[in-house]
Amino acid sequence: MARIYTLANQKGGVGKTTCAINLGAYLGYYGQRVLLVDLDPQANATSSLGIDKKTVKSGTYEVLIGANPVGPQILHNPKLKISVLPSSPALAGAEIELIEMSNREQRLKDALAPVADRYDYILIDCPPSLSLLTINGLIAGRNGVLIPVQCEYLALEGLGQLTQTLTRVRTSLFPNLQVRGVILTMYDGRTRLALDVVGEVRKYFPEKVFQTIIPRSIRLAEAPSYGQPITLYAPDSTAARSYAALAREILDQDGIHIPVFSEEG
Ligand code: ATP
Ligand code: MG
Repeated sequence: MARIYTLANQKGGVGKTTCAINLGAYLGYYGQRVLLVDLDPQANATSSLGIDKKTVKSGTYEVLIGANPVGPQILHNPKLKISVLPSSPALAGAEIELIEMSNREQRLKDALAPVADRYDYILIDCPPSLSLLTINGLIAGRNGVLIPVQCEYLALEGLGQLTQTLTRVRTSLFPNLQVRGVILTMYDGRTRLALDVVGEVRKYFPEKVFQTIIPRSIRLAEAPSYGQPITLYAPDSTAARSYAALAREILDQDGIHIPVFSEEG
């Protein structure tokens, strides 16, 4: 059965999608079968993997509202070593349609159940909100939430709100909801501020912050326009090495031991 992790933070542009893609790609590189679920109507994860969202006839939306069972919508690109359940602009409508539906918070969880044993990891990329879509993501992410936090001024802003939402979901719907880990991203080593933020976030989430810190890197920002994860776009970059290290850290914590690869692969 797949480990299912959800990337969530209602703050926009903190690196949720970048983490989902590149962590996913490195988990794939290390031999794991990975499915990325694009739960964001912006469809950034979908387009970052080179898929034109306008061509998506069936994806997360159809699965979520129950129009189609999950399976055929999943796209696999062996070069990218990651499969994706794509989003499309139709997903924006789901927010309203779900309100009327039975089991509205658990639909993604139920929808993914039939494919969970085909993967080792399922990563769910949430939109920047605490909406019903994100709640579906949190409940489907049975092994916990991954929270990317940008190493910048006001990094902690909004985290109180996220923590409150997690508490609310725990109380009413999913008592075992856990913070799997906090990923520090966009770290700029030249600034004193970045270092301060790292300290603050570690204090706010004791024991939860991954050792690996993702640096700010132009390569990471460029890769999506080539439809490639960093594993392919710039495998020798510092950014690639940091996502590889994050993947290994998570695999290690999950008790999955991978053979050490030589630099030549
Ligand atoms: P949204 O809330 O809109 O879904 P997000 O949290 O998914 O955003 P991303 O889309 O991953 O955030 O990142 C926001 C922008 O920052 C993107 O243009 C992305 O390419 C860029 N970016 C992400 N991580 C880094 C990094 N480590 N260094 C430089 N740029 C980055
Ligand atoms: Mg995103």
